[in-house]
Amino acid sequence: MTPDAHDAHYPRLPTDTDNGLLLIISGPSGVGKTTITRGVERSIPDSVFSVSCTTRAKTEADVEGVDYHFVNHDEFQELIDADAFLEWADVFGKRYGTRQKWVEEQLHRGRLVILEIDVEGAKQVKAKMPCAYSIFILPPSEDELLRRLQSRKRESQEQIAKRFAEAQREIAEAKACAVYDTFIINEDLEAAIQEAIMKVKTARVAHKQRCSDNTPS
Ligand code: 5GP
Repeated sequence: MTPDAHDAHYPRLPTDTDNGLLLIISGPSGVGKTTITRGVERSIPDSVFSVSCTTRAKTEADVEGVDYHFVNHDEFQELIDADAFLEWADVFGKRYGTRQKWVEEQLHRGRLVILEIDVEGAKQVKAKMPCAYSIFILPPSEDELLRRLQSRKRESQEQIAKRFAEAQREIAEAKACAVYDTFIINEDLEAAIQEAIMKVKTARVAHKQRCSDNTPS
């Protein structure tokens, strides 16, 4: 993926969107955030999932353009230089970023735009768009998170230990940084999905109300 000709010239985001709502979903590895994110996307008809750019290697489970846009380091750097990202961050030594122009277009169409991003990215987005609604998914306990990471059988013990340490750091940071509007504990996956849907629908009604209150008559 190369920078779009318009990326650098696209108007900057307004501090608050006046129609669509931006939804941030974060959480540590193994907490079930992708399933919860996709559950929200399926249940809210005009929602769209933001497909991030990443320099991480594509796995067998990944579909280009659906899970991520896979780019190399130079391509990612070109996008940074073209000021094409709403936010970007280094996660586990690889870069991940959200294309600003696409997000803006979707918001202007009044959509619910879902970003599944880490805490660093969420901080950047909230600083630019305080109106974004942000959810952090928590495990029922750290022991349970470790058990879930081990049961995925995807990684070596060393990699699991690294992910677990990173998850502990991320949870502590999410609780301390005051960026998240709400926390959802994923004890039961279906209940967590329903809680997320309910909270997003409520946030959306409140957002639309704020927008119409601010519209000059
Ligand atoms: P994975 O490689 O396991 O799919 O994702 C690793 C981490 O990167 C997850 O915490 C995920 O939420 C985060 N991530 C994915 N896309 C983005 C993005 O565009 N920006 C940021 N800041 N983080 C992202």
